[in-house]
Order: sequence, then structure tokens, then C-alpha cells
Amino acid sequence: MQQQQQCFHNQEITRIHLQPEFQTVQLLCEECVEDRGLTTKFEQLVLLQKVKKQPEELLSKINLDSTVKVFLSRLLKATEDDLKITKRRWSERLQAIKQMFDKLINETETYFDQLKKELEEFRKGLVTIVNFSRFEQLIQDDQQTNKEIQIVNYIKELESGITGQKKTDILNLINGYKEKIKNTQIPSITDRLSKITSEMNEYQSTVTKYSQKCNPDILPQLPQLPLQQSSKILSQRNFEKLLERITNQKRSTTNLIYQAQQQQGINSESFWNSVNNKINLLMIFKSKNKAIFGGYTPCQWKKLSTPLQQGVYDENSISFLFCLNGEDLKFFPIKRENKPAIILNSSQGPNFGGDLNINADFQGGTINLGTTYSNDILPGQPQLIFGSQNQPNINECEIIQIIPQ
Ligand SMILES: [Zn+2]
Repeated sequence: MQQQQQCFHNQEITRIHLQPEFQTVQLLCEECVEDRGLTTKFEQLVLLQKVKKQPEELLSKINLDSTVKVFLSRLLKATEDDLKITKRRWSERLQAIKQMFDKLINETETYFDQLKKELEEFRKGLVTIVNFSRFEQLIQDDQQTNKEIQIVNYIKELESGITGQKKTDILNLINGYKEKIKNTQIPSITDRLSKITSEMNEYQSTVTKYSQKCNPDILPQLPQLPLQQSSKILSQRNFEKLLERITNQKRSTTNLIYQAQQQQGINSESFWNSVNNKINLLMIFKSKNKAIFGGYTPCQWKKLSTPLQQGVYDENSISFLFCLNGEDLKFFPIKRENKPAIILNSSQGPNFGGDLNINADFQGGTINLGTTYSNDILPGQPQLIFGSQNQPNINECEIIQIIPQ
């Protein structure tokens, strides 16, 4: 039997020493921990102060089902203090943004008041120079005989006068007015916008991180993408789903490089000019009968001189085709069979491995899944199709470049 060692330091007991091999525990003060050389054996030492706040501190160190134990030990990172501090910090940062908007509201009021004032002064000056009160009198005075003639005379005087001193006066007035408008400070959003964008992106990434801290079993999620990019064809949710699949949770930015509608002329020439030499392109198409489909490849698109044709291989088998089925996306990944992911031919439209082939006019084309992209679809499951007419008949097209950070 192991001799029971108790603390004789007469100090505050701070830790429990777990000794599962002897089926015993010891209550220790900090000096005991030092004396017994336990300072590095954290897995056996339970800090009493911590266990009061986080019972999982104890539970994660005893003999429990490993799933439970792993979850609890990861949950230890989520402390109330941390939540409290982060909450306060972000409240302050959001308050600062709010203050920025308060300041913008003030500037807006000042700006429009100033414009109103300058306009008023300008009109006052104009009225004085052209003796406008005389004109008003002429119009209002019902006793006046030959009213029309008087008005014509007034206008004639004005017209002849305008070449002389009156002209100089009016020009001076206009120049002075222009100068004042020019000097009225226009509220600028440039700095604010970049500040808000960067703050909001950081905010998004922080709150996402804490969601994961408090639920360690969920996969770390990529914070929602920078606010600026969206798709006109796909819903934000599906667009983000596509980007997540492509970026594989890594930070990246997007760049819209081509957006066209049939009326404005989607054609192979504008297409190849836009994609030439670019990699990591996501293409989204919408047909006249509302079918939505497209593809992504990391491979480089190149505008070859006709009639050259060339296949480009995707060594990492990342490329995929997709279509929208109801509300959801259906993916068709490239097969690992060393076939070209895309086929370059600038007298045609985009061609994904021969499986999705769009003609130069973006109206004709073929779908023939299974050669390069997987077609292991169970009967009854959605298939990549152009829609009811079985022709691309592309009405809208978006091409987005994904740029890893
Ligand atoms: Zn002690």
C-alpha cells in the first residue's frame, strides 16, 4: 500500500493530483507540486480554481469514453473570460464604426446645408444684378398699362446689358459660385469603405472562430467571403458553396473577369479575350430556359491561334462540372484518368474535357458526361443537362477568378 502523503505546508490547496495507477488522488498546494517535481505533469494535475469554472477540466483527465474525453479537452479552450473579453473588444470596435457613421451623418447634413446656402446666395446675387424685382413688379402690377411692352423692354435691356458691365458681374458671380461649390468638402466614403470592409471581414472570421471554439467538432469554416463578390446567376448560398469547394477552406479573394448577357453579345471572341492566360476560373452559365450549370478548373486557359487545339491536364484532379438542381448544386468531379480537363480551341467556346462543349455562338453545344468528368449518377438522380431543349442556348455568363491569399 502506497504511503498517503499529505500536504504539511499549511498552504492553500490548489490542485488535485490524479494517480490512476494507484486508484488514488492527493490534494496539493503549489509547494507540494514543486517539491514532488510535478510541474510538468499537467495531464495528472487538476487545477481546482479552473475546475470550478470548467468541470471538463476534471472530466477530460479521467478515464472516460475517448470521444467524450476528446470533446471535453477541446472545449477547455472555450473559457468564459475569453468570451467576455472578446465580446467587449468587439462591442468597442463596432461602436467605433457606429461613431464613424454618426460622423458621416453630421458631414452629410453640413454638406447639403452648405450647398443650399451657396445656391441661395448665388440666386440672390443674380436677382440683384439683373434687377429682377423690376420684372416681378411688372408682372404683378395690374394697373400697369402696356405690360407686355414693358416686359419686352426689360428683356431687351437685359440682353444688351449682358454684353457690358452686367455680363462681367454675372460671370464674376458664376465663377465665385463655382469656386464655393468646389471648396465645399464632399463627404468621402473611400477610407470608410475600406475600414468597414476590413473590420467586417475580421468580425466575420472572429465570430466564426468562436462558434467553432464552443463546438470543437464542427469543421473550421471559412468566414463568409469578403462582402464585395456575389453572383448574378447563383444565390449567395450556392455561390459560397462553390467557392468553399474550390478554396477548400483557404482564404482567397475573387475577381469577376467576364459578365455578359446574350443581348450584349456573348461570343467566343470576347470569351477568349477575357480568359486568355488566366488560371483558377469558375464559369457559371444560364440558358434561355433557366438551366444553370458550369465548371471550374485550375488549368490555364489560352487563346490559341486557330486552327490549333490543345488539351490541358489537371494534375491534382480538382476540376469539376456542376449544375443547379432545384435549390441545390450537383457536382461532377473530374475522373482520375489523366484526360485533359479542358480543351483549348479559340474558334469554339469553352470545352471541359469534351464532356461539356459550348460552340462559338454560345447557343449550340453538347453534353456527354462520363469521358472526363464522372457520371456515376444513380437512376433518378439529377443529371447535367442544358434544360429542356438540350442545347446550351446561353443567355447569361459569368466568369470569376479565384485568387488564393
Ligand atoms: Zn503542500
